[in-house]
Amino acid sequence: MDFTLPADLREMQTHIRAFALNVVEARAHEIEATNQVPPELIRQAAELGLFGLSIPEEYGGVGLGMLGRCAVYEALGQGHMGFGGMVSAHASIGTSGLVKLGTPEQKAKYLPRMAAGECIAGFAITEPSSGSDAANIRTRAEKKGDTYILNGTKHYISNAPIAGILTVIAITDPAKGSKGMSAFLVEPSMPGVSVGKIDEKMGQKGALSAEVVFDNAEIPAENLLGPLDLGYREALGILTNGRVGIAARSTGAMQRLLDLSVAHAKGREQFGAPISTFQAVQFMLAEMEVDIQTSRLLWQKVAWMVDAGQDVRRMASVAKYHATEALSRVADKAVQVAGGVGYMKDAPFERFYRDQRLLRIYEGTSEIQKLIIAGDLLREK
Ligand SMILES: Cc1cc2nc3c(=O)[nH]c(=O)nc-3n(C[C@H](O)[C@H](O)[C@H](O)COP(=O)(O)OP(=O)(O)OC[C@H]3O[C@@H](n4cnc5c(N)ncnc54)[C@H](O)[C@@H]3O)c2cc1C
Repeated sequence: MDFTLPADLREMQTHIRAFALNVVEARAHEIEATNQVPPELIRQAAELGLFGLSIPEEYGGVGLGMLGRCAVYEALGQGHMGFGGMVSAHASIGTSGLVKLGTPEQKAKYLPRMAAGECIAGFAITEPSSGSDAANIRTRAEKKGDTYILNGTKHYISNAPIAGILTVIAITDPAKGSKGMSAFLVEPSMPGVSVGKIDEKMGQKGALSAEVVFDNAEIPAENLLGPLDLGYREALGILTNGRVGIAARSTGAMQRLLDLSVAHAKGREQFGAPISTFQAVQFMLAEMEVDIQTSRLLWQKVAWMVDAGQDVRRMASVAKYHATEALSRVADKAVQVAGGVGYMKDAPFERFYRDQRLLRIYEGTSEIQKLIIAGDLLREK
């Protein structure tokens, strides 16, 4: 079995890592202070193909498979996590529904501008009364002539404040329960759609989220994405692939934290010796390495399974659960190895410590991942 990534993917990883570490990180203080990603970073990211990772080449994208995308996400994960979050919300959950279910007309209309970074995408299922219990959403879509009328509220929607297109999940047939759910391509400028004020978050600055309200919103019938009454399982399938990407981003963040920790441990002297000579510090570094290696093996395996056309519902949850919990352990140890400087805003440790916390919550909390894994195990004969 060969665990080496193909040469073209390794080369792409090198470029993206350099961009994340040299270009984006150089603007990290600015992103933290303003909660905005500078427009030139968006332009540079678009030139590198980051907004078209999953978009087929015929629509101007890079057309990478899941292994390639995740290799990029790991490299991107080494840099500012808010920037990485903004890009991946677009390139994974914001884009994958349209690529998978869109008609040729829908793809031709949106994908080229999405690949160019001119139309940022997002995905909206969560509502104030249904987060983990996403099968019980209330946003309603009713057909009136050539239009669907949407009413309801989504909240915490990543990229909503800067989005040109959102994949919105709504109920089209309440009698069918969660099977009566459909997906819609919604432009925030459509009549009756409004985006609320930017959420004030613990971290991931620059990755903006907000409420999206539909008040008799008029969505053209041609913007129905996929079949009418697509159903909960299919709609959630859009998130399944996103979970593998989160595992890869987590691995990148862990690698960065370990690299910073090793450098700090070698350079910092106490009691007349580098702290790296103390076994207590060595053990923290070793435990971080174990978490990184196991997380990387998992995302690589699950990405390979996706590309091989296998069902990854359980394994995507295994990868996301393991890697995001591992990242929390690693972030905590990195702050500990750093000592006081780990708590200061001058060094990246405290930023990663805040930013990583979100990954155990969104796209399904750790508890929901465990419910999916156990549910799948118990369904087996
Ligand atoms: C910054 C940010 C960005 C986001 N971006 C998006 C986005 O782009 N699109 C989108 O649709 N959503 C998005 N979300 C929403 C996110 O997916 C939800 O917050 C998440 O699924 C949890 O839902 P909740 O917040 O309602 O928590 P709740 O569902 O209320 O959960 C609270 C706690 O209860 C636990 N819990 C709930 N049910 C069970 C159960 N059955 N068994 C055991 N434990 C349980 C949870 O694990 C959690 O610990 C985002 C959230 C945040 C914070």
